[in-house]
Amino acid sequence: MSTAAAIMDKNQATDASVIDAPPALTDGFQLVIDALKLNGIENLYVVPGIPISDLLRMAQGEGMRVISFRHEQNAGNAAAIAGFLTKKPGVCMTVSAPGFLNGLTALANATTNCFPMILISGSSEREIVDLQQGDYEEMDQLAIAKPLCKAAFRILHAQDIGIGVARAIRAAVSGRPGGVYLDLPAKLFSQVMDAAEGARSLVKVIDPAPAQIPAPSAVERAVDVLKGAKRPLVIFGKGAAYAQADEEIRSFVEKSGIPFLQMSMAKGLLPDTHPLSAGAARSLVLKEADVVLLVGARLNWLLSHGKGKSWGAPGSKKFIQIDIEPKEMDSNVEIVAPLVGDIGSCITALTNAIDGDWTPPPADWVNAVAARKEANIAKMAPKLMSNAVPMNFHGALGALRRVVQERPDAMLVNEGANTLDLARGIIDMQQPRKRLDVGTWGVMGIGMGFAVAAAVESGKPVLAIEGDSAFGFSGMEVETICRYNLPVCIVIFNNNGIYRGTDVNPTGKPDPSPMVFVPGSRYDKMMEAFGGVGVNVTNPDDLYRAVSEAMGSGKPTLINAVIDPAAGTESGNIGSLNPTSSVRKMPAAE
Ligand code: ADP
Ligand code: MG
Repeated sequence: MSTAAAIMDKNQATDASVIDAPPALTDGFQLVIDALKLNGIENLYVVPGIPISDLLRMAQGEGMRVISFRHEQNAGNAAAIAGFLTKKPGVCMTVSAPGFLNGLTALANATTNCFPMILISGSSEREIVDLQQGDYEEMDQLAIAKPLCKAAFRILHAQDIGIGVARAIRAAVSGRPGGVYLDLPAKLFSQVMDAAEGARSLVKVIDPAPAQIPAPSAVERAVDVLKGAKRPLVIFGKGAAYAQADEEIRSFVEKSGIPFLQMSMAKGLLPDTHPLSAGAARSLVLKEADVVLLVGARLNWLLSHGKGKSWGAPGSKKFIQIDIEPKEMDSNVEIVAPLVGDIGSCITALTNAIDGDWTPPPADWVNAVAARKEANIAKMAPKLMSNAVPMNFHGALGALRRVVQERPDAMLVNEGANTLDLARGIIDMQQPRKRLDVGTWGVMGIGMGFAVAAAVESGKPVLAIEGDSAFGFSGMEVETICRYNLPVCIVIFNNNGIYRGTDVNPTGKPDPSPMVFVPGSRYDKMMEAFGGVGVNVTNPDDLYRAVSEAMGSGKPTLINAVIDPAAGTESGNIGSLNPTSSVRKMPAAE
C-alpha cells in the first residue's frame, strides 16, 4: 500500500468512527438480565429451551448463578423457597406452553404459601396466538396464569422491560407476598434499542415491601385482650419466620412470658427447646387457652379452622391476629383484636405497650403446660431409642434428631406422610427458617427443588428427609444436585410404598396394589449413577453415622433407609381427611 493510500485509509477510518459510529445498542436479552441484576436478583432457577436458552447463557456470562433443573416444577419450587428464605422474589425461568404449565404448579403453591416468586416464561408470538393460527407451543399463558397468582404481566417492548420487572418484584414482595407471572414473548428478546436509553429505562425498586405500622387503637385493643387473659397462647406461623423479625419476636415472648406454639415452618424461630415452647403440649394448649395471639399463621385446615373439638368448648377463646393481609381477619372465626401490619412493626408495638405494665400469665397455666410437655417428652424418649430392625419411623428419626441437634445451622427439607408428620414432631429446630416442608397445601414434590435452593441460598449443608413416595415426584433432580456438587444429603424412608408397603391387590391378579412400589428398591444407586455417594442402611446407628458423614463432607449423598413396610399409618396424621368406603373394607385397613 502506498503512503498516500495508507493515509487516505486512515482518514476514512477516522472519519467513519466520528461520523458514522453506530450507536451502542442493547437488546431484550440484555435488558432482562440488567433489570434483574439491578434489583439484586443473583440466582435463576431454570429449565432451558426455546426461547430462553440464550438468555440463560448470557445471564451466566454476566455472573448470575443459573441453576438448570430437569423439570420446571422443581425449578419453580426452588425459586419459591428461595423467596421465603431471602425475602426477595425467587426467579424461575421456563420455556413456553408445556414448560410454563409445569412451572405453574409451583407458582400456585408459592402464592398459596405467601412465598414471593416470579415465574418468567418465554411465549409464542402474540399475533399468531391471538388468532389461534397454530404457533410453536401456542398458548395464551398470561390468561392461564392470572387466576393462579397474585399478579401477571406481559412485556411487549424492550423499553418496558425495566418497568415490567419492577412491577413484578413489587407485586411479589409487597403486602402479603406471593407468586407473580411475567410473560416474555420470544420477539421481545431480540428487540434492539439504544444502550443509553435502555439503561435509563431500568428501574431499581425502592422499598419494595414497606413497613406497615399498625394503628395505635388496634394495638391498644390487642393489649387489652392480652391483659385479660388467664391462659394466653401465641401461635407463630411461617409468616413470622418469613418476616425476619427474629429479635423482636424473641423479646416479645420473653417479656410477656406467654407459652407459644410454632407451626411447622416457623419451628426454630425460637428454639423448640425454649422453656416457653408448648410444642410438646399442643393438644393441651389448643384446648385450654382462653386468648390466642396468631402471628403470621392462618386459621386454615392446619389449625382446624380455629374451631371444633381440638379447640375446646365453643366460645371458650378470644383470638387476636397479626397479619399483613386485612382480608385474613375473620376468615374462619371472629377475630376480636385484628392487628393489620407487618409482623416486625406489630410485635414491637405490642412489646412496647406491655413494657413496664405487664403481669406474666398465671403460674398455674405456665406450670400446667410445662408439666404436660415434660410428660409427653418422657413418653416419646424410649421410642426414639428404638434399635429395632427393620427400622420403624421413631428409631430412624431418633438418629436424625441427634444429627440435627449437633448441626443447628443445617437446613432441613421434609416431605412424605408419616415421614413428615413424625419428623415435624420429633426433630427440634434451633434456628429460624431452617425447616422447609410441604406447607399450606401439604403438597408432595417440593423435596429436591427446596433442597437445591436451600443449599444455593444458604451455603449450608441440607438434610432432606423424604418418604419414598414423596421423593419420586422430584427424584430426577439428584442429577442436578450432583452436577452442581451441592451439599445435600437425602434420606429416603423406604417402606416400599405409600403410607405402607403392605397393600395387596384384592383380586389376586399380578398387578400390584396402587399403594406399593418395587419392594426393596435401592434409591441409593440413583445417586451413584451421577457420581454422588449412595448408602444403604438398615439400623439407626448406621443411619446416624452415614448422615453425619455426609453432612460433614458436603458431598451429594443419598441414603436409602430401610423402614419396616408394615410401619406407618394411612395418610399420616391427616387420615381423617381421607374418605373411606362405607361399603367395602379395603385390604390396607384390615
Ligand atoms: P402457617 O402455615 O405456618 O400457619 P400461613 O401460611 O398459614 O402460616 O400464614 C402466614 C401468614 O403470614 C399469611 O396470612 C401472610 O399474610 C402473613 N404474612 C406473611 N408475611 C408477613 C409479614 N411480613 N407481616 C405480617 N404478616 C405476614
Ligand atoms: Mg413410603
